[in-house]
Amino acid sequence: MTDITNTAAPFLRIDGVSKRFGDVAALRDVSLDLREGEIHALIGPSGCGKSTLLRIVAGFEGADEGAVHLGERRIDTLKPEARGIGIVFQDYALFPHLTVAQNVAFALKYADDARRAAGTAPLLRMVRLDGLESRYPDELSGGQQQRVALARTFAAGPRAILLDEPFSNLDASLRETTRREIRDILKASGLGILFVTHDREEALSFADRISVLRDGGVEQTGLPKDLYFRPANAFVAGFLGSTNFLDGIADGASAETPIGRVSLDRPASGPVQLSLRPEAIGIAPEGSDGVPAIVASLVFKGHDASAFVRVGEATFEVLMPASLDVQPGQCVSVAARASAVVLKG
Ligand code: ATP
Repeated sequence: MTDITNTAAPFLRIDGVSKRFGDVAALRDVSLDLREGEIHALIGPSGCGKSTLLRIVAGFEGADEGAVHLGERRIDTLKPEARGIGIVFQDYALFPHLTVAQNVAFALKYADDARRAAGTAPLLRMVRLDGLESRYPDELSGGQQQRVALARTFAAGPRAILLDEPFSNLDASLRETTRREIRDILKASGLGILFVTHDREEALSFADRISVLRDGGVEQTGLPKDLYFRPANAFVAGFLGSTNFLDGIADGASAETPIGRVSLDRPASGPVQLSLRPEAIGIAPEGSDGVPAIVASLVFKGHDASAFVRVGEATFEVLMPASLDVQPGQCVSVAARASAVVLKG
């Protein structure tokens, strides 16, 4: 992950945007920025306002309050085509009766003279589709269709690109390779990319920064690692990965919890609410260091397995190597082996 995005200047700024649809507050005072060359994910549960925010930036929807700037220019008052922003729709919206080259050439109508003169070849090279220019959309894989849509968006010479659920139409088997290819293409373009997803793994692996939305507001913005390891609250902790919530009594650098003494990511005292990821809990044979637990169930995941263990009344998820010989009903010992995140306290 580059750190360039930590210092790059914000060039798309969303300031205090609110939007209501009747009784529904779709966006509540949302502020965030997209930096030059950055891939920024908007993630959150269904209905949290991701698409509405994207549509406001694109100009398909007007904000009730707030402003959007691209560089020094205020753009939320401009028509969509005058904003310098490209958008790739979830269904790619290609013309079925036009070839790959014709689909891209169509968008060149809106490009400046230099781009028009250069034609479709550099754009198709950019998205690695050279050789396929005479194919029709229905003769392409989902991933290839997506790259045509991207070439078409590049054609108009945008300064930023919006992607709406870019990988939701792709087969799970294609998704990972396609994501890597598209990420390379987008990074090479040097443009700022704002994309909507509801897939946490996609946000964590594809984005330079992530904004987590909930009920029309931004809960936290940051680097994927920071959000994963230092979530600001229980919602972000739970949304970006499985986690165990523990209540404890802190006395400085550690706390007493149902799974024993746990070190904390920051000093605290008194009652605390903690988040401890499944990979931060170790499982060992009965009688080892830690607290006694019973394995309630196991979920095999390939390389890893999740053991759901009961300690008294509470159940915790523990991530362990799938090769470990652990059976449901077995008595084991569990202990924290990394610091817990203090969420409250
Ligand atoms: P999803 O992940 O399901 O696409 P989302 O996070 O993109 O959800 P939005 O589509 O932005 O959410 O919707 C935010 C809220 O605004 C929802 O409660 C939705 O029902 C409401 N909403 C969106 N568009 C309209 C509209 N045109 N008219 C009325 N309500 C709308």
